[in-house]
Parts: sequence; structure tokens; C-alpha cells
Amino acid sequence: MVAQTSAQSKAPLIILIIIILVALSFIVKQAMPKKYYYTADLKCESCGAVFQQKISTGTTFPVKCPKCKKKTAYRAIKCLDCGEIFTIHPPKLGEMVSPEMMMPKCPKCASMNLGRVFEPKK
Ligand SMILES: [Zn+2]
Ligand SMILES: [Zn+2]
Repeated sequence: MVAQTSAQSKAPLIILIIIILVALSFIVKQAMPKKYYYTADLKCESCGAVFQQKISTGTTFPVKCPKCKKKTAYRAIKCLDCGEIFTIHPPKLGEMVSPEMMMPKCPKCASMNLGRVFEPKK
């Protein structure tokens, strides 16, 4: 009789744990930041291809190049003074970010007059 009672009381506990786990996973899903997609200007460092691609907010660089299929494409900025298109690398995890790194400059003419590679469609 004693063994039977303990077995009976164990079953609802397992159900309770499952309910808690399901609830937890639901809460975690809700708490995750919503992804949204945006069009980014990208440049491949392997083949030099400059292209636009829809990427999500959680994208980690580099991304895959559609031309050479290598994972070497970074965000691209265009220098409005000399027309140079160059890539910006996101700081690595734990890397110190100097104010200079936060302000990208043209590697060719050191101009800070930078803009988008592709004109946004009106
Ligand atoms: Zn490429
Ligand atoms: Zn320049």
C-alpha cells in the first residue's frame, strides 16, 4: 500500500515539471528580441563584389557572398569624396572599441564624408 501511494504522488509531479518546462520555453521565446530584416550594403573581400542583401538583425558577419560563395562579405560604406567602397568590420567579442573605430574613415583619402553604397530607393 505504501509503495502504491508514493507511485501515485510521483505522476502528477512529472506532469507539473512538464508544464513548467513548456511554460518556460514559451516565456523564453516571447522574451527573445524580434528579428527584422533590412537591406544592407555589403562587399565581399575575396572577390570584391558589392551587393545588397536582406539581412536580419541577428546576422553575424561575415556573411556569404552570392558571387564566390565565400563567407567573406562585410558591411560596405562608400566614400562620397573619392568613391572608394570599403568594408567595416564589427569589433570582435571582448575587443576594446576605440572612438576612432566607431567613426569610420575612408582608407584611401581619410575622408569622413561617407554614405550608402546604393542610393535608397524612393
Ligand atoms: Zn565574393
Ligand atoms: Zn575617400
